[in-house]
Amino acid sequence: MRIAVVNSSLCRPTKCMKECIRFCPINRSGAKCVWIDEKDNKARISEQLCVGCGICIKKCPFTAISIVNLPEKMSKNLVHRYGPNSFELFRLPIPKPGKIIGIIGGNGVGKSTSLKILSGILKPNLGRYDDPPSWDEIIIRFRGSELQPYFEKLSNKDIKAVLKPQVIDNIPKFVKGTVRDILSKIDERGLSKDLKQELSLEKVWERDIKYLSGGELQRLAIAATLVKDADIYLIDEPSSYLDVRERLKVAKVIRLLTKEKKYVVLVEHDLAVLDYLSDIIHIIYGEPGVYGITSLPRGVRVGINAFLQGFLREENIRIRDYKIEFNIRPPERESIKENKLLEWSDISKCFKDFRLIVKAGEIYRGEVIGVLGPNGIGKTTFVRMLANIIKPDNGYITSTWPVKMSYKPQFISQVSYDGTLRDFFNEVGINLSSSFINSELIRPLRLNLLMERYVTELSGGELQRAMIAAALGKEADIYLLDEPMAYLDVEQRYAVARVIRRLTEEKRAATFVVEHDIVAMDFVATSIMVFVGNPGIEGLGYPPTSLREGMNMFLKEVGITFRRDPETLRPRINKEGSWLDRYQKEVLKEYYYTKVLEDKSK
Ligand code: ADP
Ligand code: ADP
Ligand code: MG
Repeated sequence: MRIAVVNSSLCRPTKCMKECIRFCPINRSGAKCVWIDEKDNKARISEQLCVGCGICIKKCPFTAISIVNLPEKMSKNLVHRYGPNSFELFRLPIPKPGKIIGIIGGNGVGKSTSLKILSGILKPNLGRYDDPPSWDEIIIRFRGSELQPYFEKLSNKDIKAVLKPQVIDNIPKFVKGTVRDILSKIDERGLSKDLKQELSLEKVWERDIKYLSGGELQRLAIAATLVKDADIYLIDEPSSYLDVRERLKVAKVIRLLTKEKKYVVLVEHDLAVLDYLSDIIHIIYGEPGVYGITSLPRGVRVGINAFLQGFLREENIRIRDYKIEFNIRPPERESIKENKLLEWSDISKCFKDFRLIVKAGEIYRGEVIGVLGPNGIGKTTFVRMLANIIKPDNGYITSTWPVKMSYKPQFISQVSYDGTLRDFFNEVGINLSSSFINSELIRPLRLNLLMERYVTELSGGELQRAMIAAALGKEADIYLLDEPMAYLDVEQRYAVARVIRRLTEEKRAATFVVEHDIVAMDFVATSIMVFVGNPGIEGLGYPPTSLREGMNMFLKEVGITFRRDPETLRPRINKEGSWLDRYQKEVLKEYYYTKVLEDKSK
């Protein structure tokens, strides 16, 4: 079967020569294969007439067209299509009572669409967007699969579903009141008191929703989902904006649902969290914005490993032409004196309500320093002192020459630029004609295809990559990237990590990366700096140290241990109190960099 997709935000027939129409060989022979639809003024392609020559794909100046061929038998698995020449979703994850179904996959392959269908928000049309099927027809389509009884119940309203949406930033626009008001109004299970404590909402309990930070809003959204008395809980990306400790707390409260035999389906890009929470994994693969296919269910370890390896053995399908690989041996810190970028003594800085102390330390050129610690603990304040933007109250910072700093802030959703991405890069001084910028930054981050898009229309992940490029594309000695992995899928996190590592080395700079995804930190950091204390009140920064030492210091603070998967070497969280957890804590005193260990309790 052939799928022709026209990206409607890219297609602009008023700004091109209608190349897709003029060059189509079928059109030239007198038939109507490609045309402009008058309703929305976008190109349409007939999938019946198209021969898949690929000429329109190449000729379109805005790269708006994708045409792919899938095996004919796939057509019977079509679950949903949003409209003509739009994205197609094949197959669905299968919810199971008492099990957490984890979904892993790239951005734009239909994860959120799947959750919306399973929650009943979106009725699947089996591809018939102009003649939607009845529930009876839909149920017949899923005959013989576990989804048949599921959809029967869903259509009879015998299943009540609740969805924690992926995007939470806009919730305060339509929900008003304090955290307490909001939760107590919808609390059907009498859980709000427990969740207040388990999700650490005490401090903001009486606060109005419009003053919550990203992490507070996320915890409120999760609490608001869990207090509903539903049969299925669909949770789209619960980790965004949360620090490591909060991610674990969230994992624990979601786990409790399985005790009550609820259905739970979860989408998550933090591999440690996904691994820790899921019982079963579905991989959704495909081409972003064009099509997505849900894989067979797999056990959690095997499923995540298959995803990382890029190969689905049972289906005999390669989903990526490279493996996502981990390095078990942490790099040692370069300690060659000429490579020193700067050093500092013990320093302190006081604001009206906040006190920061940082212990003496030094950083080297070519180093990527992973910064671990909660929000509001003084990380940005510290880097601003290094770059001499603000002065410490006590202590000194010495460097051989004045250092320049380039910064990507944590919150990028406020970026409001009225123009295309190309204009934006020109405006902030990124030299797009430089071959270095193109080969090291623009192409690896796949921004070349987004240049003509309006910045305001970019998705969270696209905007994030654009802002990373804008920060790294400037000349500086110190780069600070605050939560660069938010909104990115696993592949993109890996790509961003490689870009950061390479550029930092090439430019002989040092890059600070603040990040709460421990697995992503493992890809990107060559050393670690840990901040501890009481957020918003006082912070203590330890000097940068080796990856192993830093991870150990941090994880000890948080009280969790990681083991290594023997096959892919990826870090996995040990269950609290398990044999390995106790052995690593008590005997090895290694919270992170253990070799691949056998679990002797088995
Ligand atoms: P994911 O959650 O995996 O990132 P989504 O399910 O949100 O992906 O989206 C998959 C594709 O469907 C995207 O290309 C998106 O543009 C498209 N899409 C999502 N919602 C709509 C809609 N309401 N109308 C048309 N296309 C949509
Ligand atoms: P982090 O980067 O770890 O999230 P920051 O360094 O941005 O933390 O901030 C630490 C604390 O210092 C916060 O409570 C913040 O409100 C406060 N703070 C930061 N800059 C200033 C300033 N210029 N004046 C007063 N308080 C500030
Ligand atoms: Mg999504």
